[in-house]
Amino acid sequence: MPLIIHTIPAFQDNYLWLFHQAGEREAFVVDPGDAQPVLEYLEKYDLDLAGILITHHHPDHTGGIKTLLSHYNAPVYGPDSPNIPQISQRLYEGDSITLAGTTFSVLEIPGHTLDHIAYKASPEGQSPLVFCGDTLFTAGCGRIFEGTAKQMYQSLQKLAALPDMTQIYCAHEYTLSNLAFAAAVEPNNLALQDKTTDDENKRQQGLPTVPSTLGIERETNPFLRCHLPSLALAASQHSSSQLSDPIDVMREIRLWKDSF
Ligand SMILES: [Zn+2]
Repeated sequence: MPLIIHTIPAFQDNYLWLFHQAGEREAFVVDPGDAQPVLEYLEKYDLDLAGILITHHHPDHTGGIKTLLSHYNAPVYGPDSPNIPQISQRLYEGDSITLAGTTFSVLEIPGHTLDHIAYKASPEGQSPLVFCGDTLFTAGCGRIFEGTAKQMYQSLQKLAALPDMTQIYCAHEYTLSNLAFAAAVEPNNLALQDKTTDDENKRQQGLPTVPSTLGIERETNPFLRCHLPSLALAASQHSSSQLSDPIDVMREIRLWKDSF
């Protein structure tokens, strides 16, 4: 049976992802920063919480765990992190877990935080997907709070190696502001202009722009394009120095975005 993935908006701009197999009541939630919208959703659609998946320790991804566990006796999957005491099954690079009839493999992707992991899957007969938390966003990437630029670059490259059709389930609706920044970096990128038009239309209709696909991100996301001459040029001009190493380019683009 197909894997169904629901979008649950939370706070200002977070997305919590809830998935289950079609026709089954056992549901799994990714990064429940807030319990209330998850509890309401489970009740409304007559679903049971069978597990919680965590990508990293930030409170807007973990704040709802305690309350959810007071309602449901569910395992909590996540990274080996001292900051998330509720984790009952710690996961490492290459580990896999089968939930809702789908096998999810774990990628360690430090940079935004040191404990950040992603969950990738290829449900039978469906597009591959990845829950990547705050590492790769539509048209952007997370801030480098704990890791180094090199770690973040390598983590983004790990995600960029997934198939083009991979659906990118990131944890925030940051797309329009990310696209505005991307256009400042690459003003002549036509794919970026097309995506901006499409996503502005979606937002005007109140629709999420997430998930994007990796193929589109490769064409439009500056943080996946740091190996290209156009990005090296933009980063060099911004830093007033000659940058060519993709890690240096990404570091500079990230610093630029931090103050954009
Ligand atoms: Zn975060």
